[in-house]
Formats: sequence, C-alpha cells, structure tokens
Amino acid sequence: MTRGSVRGEAVAASTEWEISSGRYRAGRERVDEIFARDVFTLRVMRERLPKDVYTAVQNVLDKGERLSERQADIIASAMKDWALERGATHFTHWFQPLTGLTAEKHDSLIVPDGQGHVVFGLSGKDLVQGEPDASSFPSGGLRATFEARGYTAWDVTSPAFIVHGSNGATLCIPTAFASYNGQALDKKIPLLRSIDALSTQAMRLLRIFGSDAGVKRVETTLGAEQEYFLVDRNLYHARPDLVTCERTLFGAQAPKHQQLDDHYFGSIPNRVLAFMSEIEDELYRLGVPVKTRHNEVAPGQYELAPVFEATNVACDHQMLVMETIRRVAPRFGFAALLHEKPFAGINGSGKHINWAIGADTGVNLLDPTDETHTNLQFMTLLCAVIRAVHLNSDILRASVASIGNDHRLGANEAPPAIISIFLGDMLTDLITQLETGAPQRTKNGGLLDLGSRSLAMLKRDPGDRNRTSPFAFTGNRFELRAVGSTAAVAWPNTVINTIVSESIDFIATKLESELAGDRSPERLQEVVLRTLSEIVREHKSIVFNGDNYAQAWHDEAAQRGLPNLKHTVEALPALDTEKARALFEKYGVLDRAELASRVNAFIEKYITQCGIEAGQMASIARTMILPAALEHQRRLAETVAATQGAGVDAEPTRASLEDFVELTNRFRDRLEALEATSDLAHSAPMDHARHIKASVQPIMDELRQAGDELERQISDDLWPLPTYRELLTIR
Ligand code: ADP
Ligand code: MG
Repeated sequence: MTRGSVRGEAVAASTEWEISSGRYRAGRERVDEIFARDVFTLRVMRERLPKDVYTAVQNVLDKGERLSERQADIIASAMKDWALERGATHFTHWFQPLTGLTAEKHDSLIVPDGQGHVVFGLSGKDLVQGEPDASSFPSGGLRATFEARGYTAWDVTSPAFIVHGSNGATLCIPTAFASYNGQALDKKIPLLRSIDALSTQAMRLLRIFGSDAGVKRVETTLGAEQEYFLVDRNLYHARPDLVTCERTLFGAQAPKHQQLDDHYFGSIPNRVLAFMSEIEDELYRLGVPVKTRHNEVAPGQYELAPVFEATNVACDHQMLVMETIRRVAPRFGFAALLHEKPFAGINGSGKHINWAIGADTGVNLLDPTDETHTNLQFMTLLCAVIRAVHLNSDILRASVASIGNDHRLGANEAPPAIISIFLGDMLTDLITQLETGAPQRTKNGGLLDLGSRSLAMLKRDPGDRNRTSPFAFTGNRFELRAVGSTAAVAWPNTVINTIVSESIDFIATKLESELAGDRSPERLQEVVLRTLSEIVREHKSIVFNGDNYAQAWHDEAAQRGLPNLKHTVEALPALDTEKARALFEKYGVLDRAELASRVNAFIEKYITQCGIEAGQMASIARTMILPAALEHQRRLAETVAATQGAGVDAEPTRASLEDFVELTNRFRDRLEALEATSDLAHSAPMDHARHIKASVQPIMDELRQAGDELERQISDDLWPLPTYRELLTIR
C-alpha cells in the first residue's frame, strides 16, 4: 500500500464522520443551571462552611489575611465532600510552570483506614501546600537537577474546580509554584505580584484625586479572545508535521483560500457548531463565562471569547479554554490547532488581550465618561499608559515573542512587531488639546442615520476601530493584539501591569511632591495638566492611528525611533537589560535571578522547538516527499523511453523530466543542508538561537519552497500528505 492510499483513506474517513457519529445531542441544559456546577465557588463555601471559616475566606480575598491550620482543615474537608459528590477520585495542585502549559500531579483522595479498607481524606495541608519535584520543569537555571525541592501553594483567589475524564474526575486546586528558596518557578506568582504593584500605585492616584472613598484595592481585568483552527482528525494524523509541531512544514497554497473573504463571520458549519456548543457547556461548568463564537478570517479558523474577569482568574480560565478546546475536539472528529501559524499563506491565530483597571467597587478607571476633557483622573491614567508603552515598548514586544508568533507579527495579518498605540479620534483630539493647555471639549460620535425610516438611528462611537494596531484603546480598555494564540496570557499581563505601575508611580510621585503645600482643586488641576502636557509632548510618538501594515508606517516608525524587533531572537534581549532588571525588581515582580531564569527558559524553548521542527521537516522530506518525487521521476523517465520507443517525438516530455529532475535535486540538496546543520549546538543559548535564525531557518524556508513546488507537480495519487485543500475544506 502506498502512502498516497493512506491519504485517500484519511480523506474518505473524514467525509464519513458526520453520518456515523451520532454524537450530536438533542437539546442542551440551561446555562444558568450548569454554570459553575464543577466549581467550588464562594456560594458553595457559604453553604458548606461554618460561618467563621467562611468569613475567614472572605478576609483572605478582601484583606489578604491568612488562614489558620484549623480553618484550612475545615475547608479541605468540605471541598473533599463536595468533590466526592461529583465523582472525583483524585486531587491535584494545578499550576503554570514556565513550559507555558499547565501541570498537574494527581494524588488519590483515598487514605487506608488501618483495618484493610480505605476512607476518603483531604487535609488542610494537602490543600494549602504541595511538593512536586521542581527539577523536571524548566527553571531557566534557577534550579539544578539535584536541587529538586519545589512547592505549590494554594491560590485562594482562584476557585478549585473538577475536570471530568472518561473514567473518573479530578479535583483541581489552582496553585502557585515556587522553589525551595521561595523563587517563582511559574507564571502566576509574578502576575499576582504585578497586580499588587499596580493596585498600590493606582491607589496613590485615587487618593490624589480624592476618589478613593470605599476603595480597598484596584484590580486589573482581562478578557482574552482565542483564535484557533479545526482540522479533521483523520487528516491531522496523516500529517506528521501537524502531530509534532501543530503547523504544516510543507503545503502548497490551495486554489481557494481566504480570497473571497467568505469565511469571516460566515455561517458556522454544523459539526463545528456542535463542537462549539460542547466546549461552551464544558467551560460553563467550569465557571468560564464564554460569550462569543464566530468564524475567523481564514478557512477552518474560529474564535471564542469570554466575558472579562479579574485578571488572575481570567488567566487560569484562559488556560482552561485552551485545554478544553484541545480536549473536546476529538469527540467531534476534529483536531484543534492552537498554533500561531498552522498554514502558510493564510491568516494565523492570535489572542487579543483586553486589559483594564478597575476599583474593587466595580468602577472601570479606563472608562472615559461623557465629558472626558474634564476627567482629570482618566486623562492621567491614559497618559500613564502612553508613557509606559513608549518607554517599554521593547519589553512589551519581548513579552509576546515566541517561535510561533514570529510567523505572524508583521506578516500583514497581525499587527507588526513595532509596538504603537491606537487612540482613535476622540482621545487623539484630547491629547492634542492637552499638549497645549487645558482641554476644552470632548469630540463625540453623534448619531448615525442609515437613511431608512425603518432603521433606528445608531449611536456612533467617538472613534473608528483599527484592527492593524498592536495596542489599541477600544472604548473603555486597551487591547493588546500581538499575543500569540498558544501563549499563556499571564506573562504579557504581568508586563503591562508592571510598566504601567512604574508610570503611575512616576506621575504620583511628581504630583504628590508638587501638591505638598496646596491641595486646592485649582492647584490640582494646574499641576496635573502641566504634568500631562509634558508627558504628551515627550511620549506622543508612540501614538499611531493609521494603517500599521503599510510600509510607510515602518519607515515612519524608524524615523520616530520606535523599535522594530522583528522576531524572537531580536526581541528577547530586551529582557536581558539593566532597564528590565531594575523595573521588575523595583516593583517586586521578579528579582534579578527570576527574570534571568525566564529569559533562559524562553530562549531554550525557542531552540528546542526549532530543533523539533527541523528534525520533523527533514524526516518528512526524506521519507515521504523524496520517495514520491523519485517515483514520479521514474514514471516520467519511463514515459519518455516508451514514447521514443513508439517512434513519437518525446521532446516536450523529456524537457519536463529534465526540469523535474532539477527541482528534485534542489530539494535533495536543501534537505542535505538541513540535515547537516540542524544539530549544531553552540555553548551560549542566545548564540545558538541567533545561529538558528540566521542559518537554519533560511534553509528550512528554501526546502519548503522546493517541497511545495514538488507538490504542485507530482501526480496526485503519489502525494503522501493531505493537502491544504483537503485540510481546510473538509468540515
Ligand atoms: P472584538 O473581537 O470586537 O474585540 P469581543 O467581543 O470578541 O470583541 O471581545 C472583547 C473582549 O473584551 C471580551 O472578552 C470582553 O469581555 C472584554 N472586555 C470588555 N470590557 C472589558 C474590561 N473592562 N476589561 C477587560 N476586558 C474587557
Ligand atoms: Mg478584540
């Protein structure tokens, strides 16, 4: 049996899926009935805990107080009973190591009773503290292999939940992960520290503006939109590159892809809709408030977005969103691809992170309100963000750097690697006024008349949208659009919180000292406006409202002195600077060693992933494509001989054979070049990464080009891999 027939079988099996599955459910349960069914929420705690223990939990959440051992024991026992009722047999401390994934080590809830039987138990200590082996997770050099001790610590602010498998359920307790000496080995600890830092600094501003009444904390909020692709599982398994790398390493463009723009917001295919409903149900059970679902730009591409939540919980939920998409897809005969660029030539996937700051009283501090020009506090926060992003655009850029995202940023489908801010007409007008004195007016969008009496007048937003901007103000929040679709969003959020903390600190310090003597409203207004005017003048070059995809912007950005760190190898060094070290250290987010460890872990990941891709690519080239090419070549050669033998002019066929042999030779030559380079290891990781970028990736690009050209020429029955057309249109 040739590989080609395996491909044929994969295609045939895929098209039969819908008929044979029978998995669609007749009706769904009501969302309000299943929502958070598998979450140990505050409401559950209120019902199940003694009053004093429940109050203690609230004090942890509101005032950062600690629980006593007795209280932890009581909570653990209630949590265990609740979990057993839901079929749990095991529990796990669930955490986010530097792999960018989540980790879990399951322990059974059973305890031998000493009389030959077992009982169920979960102690306060089990709940509060765990001890996974830290040596097998990336620590970026913080821990040597023999220094294995690491701790997980219960994060009371993120509720425990239950994940159901095919054969049993597991109680998952969100935790932070630290080393024996207390250094953060995960993504949650720095995030929590950055949220605290921002709260501390923002509270100073609220006090200056006298708007701190009743506010205990300032929170950050996050709504993360997730893009992903679905491909048929049978076809996925026939593509080793998708299975190992989640992206196609070869693949010629299909005749029809996204040219007609007919997929975006198009009607959702039946099987996909059934899949989406199921992930929604699963996520609802986990308390994730999924809100939006639609087709994205590329064929086979979709998006899911939840309602925003407090950042820490939203980050945990985002990890669950990714896991759930992957886990549920096979039930519907799909494989979900979360990679940033599964297919060349069509759009890749990103993750927009919507970021705002709010008082714990529920007020969104980034809401401009109606008469924005009179809202000093909003204008101050706005200028703090502008200053933060201008001064630290390199660090923000580095926070979204990954090998997958390199394929997207700057490819005219996602914002470029140049970080800038889109403010829109209203706010741009406002900062222009601020620059020269006290703003006098707020531009408003007015009403939009659609020219038909049967259509209502629409309230027009004060500014248009700009999809090309990497960091855009979208009404009452900022949206960072440069994040990759596989990224754990905790890290870019940590970076935004930290740079904005620094900026608010800078402004608050200035205002506090200038207002020391006189705090009258007139004086406040004068000092604030003067400070903001200076900030606008110094930092407005980060604001850009035009087309970020255009070459003209790239030229202008260079003139403005904005960094254009095109790929990971150029971007990561921004984290390895004194500026970055001092910044993260000052706000207690990461000490120097913790930051260095992250840089190391990111570089290691880049090198490892590229190594895997190079190895997989060489293997497909050598064992699948080259044999097909040689077989095709043999057929051509036989045809030439047979044609000549029949006494017919074989010249045209002979010429194609010659061209084809030349192409195959070029392919083989690039393959040999790749095989020769890919295991070159250099001593310093950053040098190794640079070598990969400069020497290995160009060869991979050339090999791919030759491979895709072969795909266009080789007889379809010989081609061993499912094609783009098959992958992207079978649904
Ligand atoms: P679009 O794709 O047009 O940007 P979506 O509705 O898909 O819009 O996503 C917008 C996201 O922004 C949602 O997750 C939404 O909950 C979130 N969001 C709205 N307000 C805030 C806020 N104050 N803080 C953080 N996120 C927010
Ligand atoms: Mg968005």
